[in-house]
Amino acid sequence: MALNVGVIGLGAMGAGMARTLSGKGFAVSAYDLAETARAQIAEHGIAARDSAADVIAVADIIVLSLPLARHVQETIDAAFDANAFDTGRKIFIDTSTSEASVSRQLAARLQQAGHGFLDAPVSGGPQGAASGSLSTMIGGEEEFVSTARPVLDAIAAKIIHVGPSGAGNIAKLVNNMLVACHMLTTTEAMRLSEAAGLPAEDALRVINSATGRSAISEVHFPTWVLDNSLNSGFSAGLMRKDMKLALELAQEAGCTLPVAELAARLWAPEQSGLKDSDDFMQIADLRGKVEHD
Ligand code: NAD
Repeated sequence: MALNVGVIGLGAMGAGMARTLSGKGFAVSAYDLAETARAQIAEHGIAARDSAADVIAVADIIVLSLPLARHVQETIDAAFDANAFDTGRKIFIDTSTSEASVSRQLAARLQQAGHGFLDAPVSGGPQGAASGSLSTMIGGEEEFVSTARPVLDAIAAKIIHVGPSGAGNIAKLVNNMLVACHMLTTTEAMRLSEAAGLPAEDALRVINSATGRSAISEVHFPTWVLDNSLNSGFSAGLMRKDMKLALELAQEAGCTLPVAELAARLWAPEQSGLKDSDDFMQIADLRGKVEHD
């Protein structure tokens, strides 16, 4: 039987995933709070619904791509209130970067009601979402992963089932804490290189064949810094959110992370000069392209 898929949250990531799923033959229903996002997805032949509960009512598998854990909780609460779960068993694939503790609570609540919930945060940016080549790190029951597999395979090239509920978000926060630090350290390294007389492109050629490399030096700098576009589709606000969540997780786990704490201060608006809506790549503005208010 063909799976009906829902996508809730049609921003930089969700819109790409909805189009990818539709392009791969799934019947997709979608919702976003923003009318413009709903209108844009409808132009791609995807059924834009009037509420998240409407999407959940018609879908078997629902992909969530929302800014915060609070939005995920509110969406599921509203769906219970609207009796959207009466139409059959649902499995949620929550691709939002979120709190592990909230993922565990939602998974327990939904499982009690006969439904499934996977925390499945993603890596790979809007380009990965649009091309179905994301990486996803999953927390939750194997049974739900296997039922959701066709949808996971459509949106992600790499699927890692990390462990029980919450494990996906722990892995994601640890990953993004490194991204935040690598952006800062790679920017400093490139500034030093240019100030000392070696152009960033030449330094990157070496680093990317040597031990200082990371995805930031291998992908982000060559793609969005060397051409000065500084436009990856991931916002400074989301980077700050991830650092905040990583530091909260550290506190819960009794870990002290002095480097991450310093990095979080350097990403703050007053230090970085970046608004929430600015692309996070603007922190690597080696050539002074960005004018701050
Ligand atoms: P975004 O801000 O571009 O999009 C979020 C969308 O959700 C917006 O269109 C907004 O209108 C909608 N929205 C907000 N509250 C809603 C609600 N209650 N109901 C329905 N729609 C609602 O964000 P994004 O960049 O697409 O990121 C989405 C999630 O994916 C975040 O958790 C983010 O941390 C994560 N993520 C983003 C990237 C990236 O490169 N952008 C990469 C990996 C993970």
